[in-house]
Amino acid sequence: MATVEWRSPASEMAVKQFEAAAERLDLDKNVAARLKRPDRALIVSVPARMDDGSVHVFTGYRVQHNDVLGPFKGGIRYHPDVNLGEVSALAMWMTWKCSLAGLPLGGGKGGIACDPKKLSRRELQDMTRRYTAEILNFIGPDVDVPAPDMGTNEQVMAWIMDTYSQHRGFAVPGVVTGKPVAIGGTLGRREATGRGVVYTIVEAAKHLGLALEKSTAVVQGFGNVGLIAAQELARLGVKIAAVSDSSAALCRDNGLALDEVIAYKEKNGELEGFPNADKIAGQSLLELPCDILIPAANEMQITGENAGRTQCRIMAEGANGPTTPEADAILRQKEVFVIPDILANAGGVIVSYFEWVQDLQNFFWTEEDVNNKLRAILTRAFHEVLGLSRKEKVDMRMAALMLGISRVARAMLWRGLYA
Ligand code: GLU
Repeated sequence: MATVEWRSPASEMAVKQFEAAAERLDLDKNVAARLKRPDRALIVSVPARMDDGSVHVFTGYRVQHNDVLGPFKGGIRYHPDVNLGEVSALAMWMTWKCSLAGLPLGGGKGGIACDPKKLSRRELQDMTRRYTAEILNFIGPDVDVPAPDMGTNEQVMAWIMDTYSQHRGFAVPGVVTGKPVAIGGTLGRREATGRGVVYTIVEAAKHLGLALEKSTAVVQGFGNVGLIAAQELARLGVKIAAVSDSSAALCRDNGLALDEVIAYKEKNGELEGFPNADKIAGQSLLELPCDILIPAANEMQITGENAGRTQCRIMAEGANGPTTPEADAILRQKEVFVIPDILANAGGVIVSYFEWVQDLQNFFWTEEDVNNKLRAILTRAFHEVLGLSRKEKVDMRMAALMLGISRVARAMLWRGLYA
């Protein structure tokens, strides 16, 4: 971001993308200056008692980028590398993502710098409840609605919902999304991001004339997004040639037995040690020949250094910000069809929106209804982006950013400046 507080590799990348799209849109200069920075950023100290009796003070964040279209919306990440700049970049991408999908929501993101794998269940719960107490006055169904992201899940959302509700004195399910169904979550939220990635791949394959049942896919990241995307692709007849998580990368020439891989991951918590596959180096996975590459792990995985060695036809970004602007230029030359993050992984926040609406109305939908509505929104967004990219002769990322940013800018200009 423009000021030093927010500066980090991820935020510089998000601002670079924004500036390129703002220039192409000939965006109002005053609006552009405002959108480059978050509305608000909160840093909190989160003391939590560890099992050995000591107190560890974690650092937590909640960044609210823009709420011109509706309440701030975005996940909470638990990862050792979480920092203010990263959370700010992720919050900015949420603004464009919600706008692109046509949701009445803004962009936010939060996180705690911690390694959730090293915390006991009790430590995780105490840390989550204290973090919630620290950000209590900044969140709420009308204000800012957190959700899961890397390292958090429906249990963490349940603790946040409970802590918030205890303070208010009554149950407030609409304060977070991605909750268990038993306490006001929606059917289909857990699968939504991975499913959405696949809906956009189906549209891309139709556009490119690619027969999915004869295609192969490589998936980086085997968490909630990568695992479900792989499973849904396999259901459509796509051969899953390789998958990875932070512990190992596995490949097999004639395709992995995905059900076995999933069962192993569920039992052991990681892919390391899975017997029926070849082990390869994590980074070389991205360079395997395949039709569909799905980066579904961290930011900045495909860079100016390795983009030239990728060998895919479609790249669908399950992760947020996996591709740097330098890599984008190379992928364009190679004519890789990139389905950008704010489109490919929007399924999660779209179904979060459905969950929030159901909570506010106390009226719940069937999973079929959720999936049909998700598919309709993503298919429409995909074709809007594709249409603009052809009309303006820009790549899919630029078209998606132009659509997302211009809707926010239009709303800002209508609302005017409060002085
Ligand atoms: N963390 C997810 C994302 O990056 C979901 C956010 C949400 O559901 O609010 O899109």
